[in-house]
Amino acid sequence: MEDQGKYPKDPRHEQTQHLNATAATTKIIFIYLVFGFGWILLSDYIIEIIFADPASLRLAQSVKGVFFVGFTAIIFYYIIHRSIDMYVETILNLKDAYVSLDQGHKKSLTLEEKLFDLAFYDPLTSLPNKTLLEETINQYILNHPNDGLIGFVYFDIDEFRNLNEVKGHSVGDELIKEVGRLLSEKIEKPTMLARMGGDEFVLALFDITNLELFLPTIESYFGVIRKSFILDQDDFFITYSAGVALYPDHGKDYITLLRHADAAMSIAKSKGKDQIVIFDEEMVTIIKQQTELLNQLRLAITNQEFSLHYQPIIQLSDESVAGVEALIRWMHPIKGFIPPLAFISLSERNGFIKEITEWVFQEAANVYKLWKQKKKSFKVSINLSAAILMNDKFITSLIQWIKDHDIDCTKFNLEITETSIISDIDKSIHILSTLKRLGFTLALDDFGTGYSSLTYLQKLPIDSIKIDRSFISNIKEDTEEFYVLKYMIDLAHHLNLTVVAEGIETKEQADMVKKYQVDFAQGYYYCKPMTQDRILEYFKAFHMKS
Ligand code: C2E
Ligand code: MG
Ligand code: MG
Repeated sequence: MEDQGKYPKDPRHEQTQHLNATAATTKIIFIYLVFGFGWILLSDYIIEIIFADPASLRLAQSVKGVFFVGFTAIIFYYIIHRSIDMYVETILNLKDAYVSLDQGHKKSLTLEEKLFDLAFYDPLTSLPNKTLLEETINQYILNHPNDGLIGFVYFDIDEFRNLNEVKGHSVGDELIKEVGRLLSEKIEKPTMLARMGGDEFVLALFDITNLELFLPTIESYFGVIRKSFILDQDDFFITYSAGVALYPDHGKDYITLLRHADAAMSIAKSKGKDQIVIFDEEMVTIIKQQTELLNQLRLAITNQEFSLHYQPIIQLSDESVAGVEALIRWMHPIKGFIPPLAFISLSERNGFIKEITEWVFQEAANVYKLWKQKKKSFKVSINLSAAILMNDKFITSLIQWIKDHDIDCTKFNLEITETSIISDIDKSIHILSTLKRLGFTLALDDFGTGYSSLTYLQKLPIDSIKIDRSFISNIKEDTEEFYVLKYMIDLAHHLNLTVVAEGIETKEQADMVKKYQVDFAQGYYYCKPMTQDRILEYFKAFHMKS
């Protein structure tokens, strides 16, 4: 019965049913007529035989009439009752069929809604996904071929890859959800926030009327998410890199806007992250060059294009050489020398820094063995990238490296930048303590270029700070910078840290840092970075302090 309710009836079937009903009714009427006439004729005949006198005959006729009416009434009752029963049953069935049809319809509606959600919304954040963003932008462009302005802001979370590796994907997901929630609470229609996948989002600002207000508006949006987040009980300061493309100036369709905003975002990353960069045409060329460079970088190890150079670190009290800093060099077969700043941050962004660091440690171990054989033993400083330091597998592979090469860790100093530890200070302290336990000394590199250096300096288990070259160059006594530098030196000494001044280029600078009790200095004034055999010759001229 249910099935009958679910599907439309075949009209041919309806016609046959109608014919069957007419035939059945005719049959009943025919039987009734035959039986009625038969009964009247037969009963009259029998009564006339039985009752001879007219009075009895009339009485018998009346009784027979009453009996006939009663009998036919019973038959009619039965037939009508049965028909009404069937009718009621049919109505009930129809009602059931309608209910199940309605439920089926509702079910198919929610399924349809679910499919719609899946197609246009991101399941993790419930934000519009890239398909819906693309459709909305295309629609807008269609409706505003000559007027209208869209600010297309493509952004992602800085160091998200690290965070995911350190804390696991579910913590990463939590952060993505929270960022999405905070931002969508802040923005107002018609601005649209979409999640593109991973840690990437797009803010599309439609109908911008005042371009001067555009940047402050975006900055105010980032203001609500650029902050500390407690993730798995640890405090993370989260920043973002954003690229902006404008419709129609930077692209007249969705794909171009996306590509150009993405290019601006990678420029924001290469400029040190935590910033908003607006697209301009030159960026396309820069990005192209970077992609090309990355492809060549991948071949550099196999083609033996890397080498390590060493720059002496001078102890200022007696001008002896306290050690050397190992600095990577890339000699490209066509382009020639490519400085580390041109490829280190690029390889950090693309994960290639792991291979580079492995190569550096391998090379440092080779040189360590060589110098040991020659009975020379200099302390070697190695630069470590944030991405490497915070990677859980780093300590394990470092311990393997120590075992494989029988390394005396006290002969190595590890240089880390403050930006690498600021994102997760507790985890950094833990890692740095492990490195110290293994016997390494630790230096905080490029000190003074980050933002909150002094606040956590006392918490870190480090041995020295290396004051960045930008502080040393152009410094003159009695200027504001000079007092900051002096304060840095005093503070470091107060915390029992030694101070290294980087980038000493002139005698004046050397004299000045010496005067203000800087312990070590490094710079072209003393010596430029050199190959390992040239550095050996250089050392001969110095009294070695190892
Ligand atoms: P850094 O660790 O602060 O290294 C000091 C940089 O200053 C080196 O630049 C060095 O050549 C340069 N320098 C030294 N004295 C002077 C001077 O008197 N004047 C001037 N103008 N520069 C001076 P380099 O070799 O180009 O390295 C730049 C940065 O690249 C390094 O800064 C370091 O952060 C990174 N880097 C270099 N090698 C490696 C490496 O093996 N691994 C990692 N992760 N980073 C590295
Ligand atoms: Mg360094
Ligand atoms: Mg430095």
